[in-house]
Amino acid sequence: IQVFILAGLLVHFVFLVSIFDIYFSSPLVHGMTPQQTPLPPPAKRLVLFVADGLRADSLFELNGNNTPRAPYLRGILENNGSWGISHTRVPTESRPGHVALIAGFYEDVSAVAKGWKENPVEFDSVFNESKYTWSWGSPDILPMFAKGATGDHVYTFCYAAESEDFGAQDAAMLDIWVFDHVKSFFNSSRSNQTLFSALNEEKVVLFLHLLGIDTNGHAHRPNSREYKENIRKVDEGVKEITSILESFYGNDGKTAFVLTSDHGMTDWGSHGAGHPSETLTPLIVWGAGVNYPQKVSSQLFEDNFLKEWQLENLKRLDVNQADIAPLMASLIGVPFPMNSVGTLPLEYLNNSAHFKAESMFTNAVQVLEQFKVKMSQKKATTLSFLFTPFKPLSDSEQINFLKKTRLCIQQQKYDEAVSLCKTLINLALEGLSYYHTYDRLFLGLSIAMGFVGWTTYVILVIIKTHTNLTKTVQSKNKESTVLLYSFTFVGMIIAFFLLIQRCPWTYYVYCLLPVPVWYAVVRELHVIQDLAADLWSLPIGRSVGFLLICIMGIEILVFSFFYRSTLTVGLLVFAGWPVITKLWVQAKTTTLVWTLLCVLLAVFPLMPVVGREPNIPLVTAAGLLTLLISCFSLASLRRSENKYRNNEDMKVLFYQMLSIALSTYVVSNTHNSLKNKQGLPAFNQVISWMTLVSSSVLPLLSPTFLFQRLFSILLSLMATYLLLSTGYEALFPLVLSGLMFVWIHMEQEALQHYGLSLKPKLAVFNFAYATDITQFRQLHVDDIRRSFFFVFFIVTAFFGTGNIASVNSFDPASVYCFLTVFSPFMMGSLLVLKVVIPFVLVSCAFEAVQVTTQLSSKSLFLIVLVISDIMALHFFFLVKDYGSWLDIGTSISHYVLVMSLTIFMMLMNGLAQLLTTKRFELSRRTKHHST
Ligand SMILES: [Zn+2]
Ligand SMILES: [Zn+2]
Repeated sequence: IQVFILAGLLVHFVFLVSIFDIYFSSPLVHGMTPQQTPLPPPAKRLVLFVADGLRADSLFELNGNNTPRAPYLRGILENNGSWGISHTRVPTESRPGHVALIAGFYEDVSAVAKGWKENPVEFDSVFNESKYTWSWGSPDILPMFAKGATGDHVYTFCYAAESEDFGAQDAAMLDIWVFDHVKSFFNSSRSNQTLFSALNEEKVVLFLHLLGIDTNGHAHRPNSREYKENIRKVDEGVKEITSILESFYGNDGKTAFVLTSDHGMTDWGSHGAGHPSETLTPLIVWGAGVNYPQKVSSQLFEDNFLKEWQLENLKRLDVNQADIAPLMASLIGVPFPMNSVGTLPLEYLNNSAHFKAESMFTNAVQVLEQFKVKMSQKKATTLSFLFTPFKPLSDSEQINFLKKTRLCIQQQKYDEAVSLCKTLINLALEGLSYYHTYDRLFLGLSIAMGFVGWTTYVILVIIKTHTNLTKTVQSKNKESTVLLYSFTFVGMIIAFFLLIQRCPWTYYVYCLLPVPVWYAVVRELHVIQDLAADLWSLPIGRSVGFLLICIMGIEILVFSFFYRSTLTVGLLVFAGWPVITKLWVQAKTTTLVWTLLCVLLAVFPLMPVVGREPNIPLVTAAGLLTLLISCFSLASLRRSENKYRNNEDMKVLFYQMLSIALSTYVVSNTHNSLKNKQGLPAFNQVISWMTLVSSSVLPLLSPTFLFQRLFSILLSLMATYLLLSTGYEALFPLVLSGLMFVWIHMEQEALQHYGLSLKPKLAVFNFAYATDITQFRQLHVDDIRRSFFFVFFIVTAFFGTGNIASVNSFDPASVYCFLTVFSPFMMGSLLVLKVVIPFVLVSCAFEAVQVTTQLSSKSLFLIVLVISDIMALHFFFLVKDYGSWLDIGTSISHYVLVMSLTIFMMLMNGLAQLLTTKRFELSRRTKHHST
């Protein structure tokens, strides 16, 4: 059985990773020739301001009294430059945003997994193509462009990472730091001859990364005074830097300016997803080579922004975020970044028609280069009779296009040339994605094969080992050797086929995996035959009805991923379950409590996930409630003439109550002190971390009697959970574990109801001896329901309070008790921990259900595996790479979620066993030392 679990982990891991290979492989290719416009550029240097996390509407809208929020920038877009909205893509995070801006391509999500700071693949950027780039700002962003650059010409000036504190101080200091350093940099250059002449070269870029607005947005939300005040400070800074530069260069009119942001921010201070508040960023361009404002009488846009911002008469030029890279390259006349997929936004340029046509032609050739490299790569690794080229852009078609465009430019038919180039760019991009997704169908099918095979195999194992449905028939040896040889043969053919196509090694894994899985299935063919014979003897109506209920149950689970309120419906059905099955007749009180708790729990999925203000009194209330409950249990423990109780156990329980009380105090104190901008008190931080560490050990010190142990686990986890809570969700584990306690009782009743067993005494049930039971009972149809309950509770634990959403769109408010300095890894792990806690509670309860219903812990768990695998298969087919970016992101994260859930449940099964059965005895001596 150990081998089986290991194989299961391996298979699921492959399934999980495959999705990244199929959908998220890097689209980048290498080996293109740089393309540059042969005409002189309008600007000698470019200044790029990126106001991190600045929303388009926050910048453009007017204040309450009709004054502009950023007076200087408003003046520019009214009198000197061009403006528009830059549309970003998911994930709306800093790194992908900057890569799109500066390198011109949309980074694939797999970069997330590889850490934001490292370059998963080498890429070209405007900075790399420049003669010199000087950059100032955050250590999270700048180094990646310096690292990717060839040679030593991209210079970075960063502040220390510790300065990015969410809690104390004014985050606008980060921007002031940048502005001050740029000023002193230019001052010092007057006495430094080498620097002075370098600054006066052509093709120079200055990059100012301004993190203050993002930090203030996270800490105080975009509607706060702090966020808006920071925008005003950035406006002043831009004004100052512009005038310093103009005077440094003697007003030579050779400087171009770009101001934009990498992503927006939601009203509740997060970003990462695809809401318009996150994807719409401002773009203002002015200076050398940039068009002046164009007056128009009416413009057509679907949104109402123009009216709100009172900008109806100034032409709004929207771009995609990746279009900014070719725009910048064209302004200072450097080659377009080689991996750029952007299209030059011509309307921003103030230049001759000839220049525009030539630049567009450069753009087209540069995108076509990528297409050609991609095609030749695919062609080289595919057997010629299997290769279907991208028809609209065959070799002759390409030559045709280029010839025609050249001719148009020569004949000065520039408009025609531009439109030809645009068609060519679109075709090349289409072709790029065609070749990029070339193997997708084939790989998808092979993964699905493996999936179905694995699930079938698990079902067969359940039937064979845990039920008496089949008669044990020994298969003949001769037959099985034939089978083994034929499957090996098939595997070899597949391997050979992949070998001659020179596929990457991961393809071997995906294509060969179904072979052993199906071999295992076919070997158990006789079980299927027996099963079929059995099924025929059953009344058809009953088996069809049973199947329908199974499908319905799984569909409800799938739906709950899209609409959390489905969980409410499910829980209400659960509340009625004892009534439907007439269980209530034999256990009236238990049924009542069960129904009550189900209804209570059903409230949680209806609560809003994000966008709510912290509600600390609720957290305090949850803490006090926990204390109250533990007092009751302490009292009842004291009262019961229990020969099992001793003082050591009391001490543990007492310590746990103390830590609950401390946690409650720390949460309310910390949030108070943060509100008063006094930062996080060091004492609170120490207590928080100590609680976190001790909570993983304490349950192991408590007695292994069923309820004492489960209660001890709850108390420990609750202490940590309180520290991570900011509102109503603090009550969630309480209600959930209440329901779990009742569930254990209900399962007892159900067991009796079906006459399967006598009622064991739960009060004296001991986990430590449970595994010694040698007489396990056979599986019953009701066990499928039991497993389904478990999966349902697990999903509820995940989505019940929407904690998963706070990991997704990053709401740091809940980790303030532990740290306030920005650290993606630490904060991420703490948020994951918060999600995991309810999960552990449910897993432990399930463990209890398994042992008290006299099942081997494996058999029930296998059914759980089957249920979650069917769910995963469903999501696998729902994964898509078309539609809006939000849809794609959601579909993929669902699959990843359900897969990791499955893998996680396997690990958690082990953890729950450990948590419930193991016990450390404190020896007398250590106790003496510790007190
Ligand atoms: Zn950012
Ligand atoms: Zn941010």
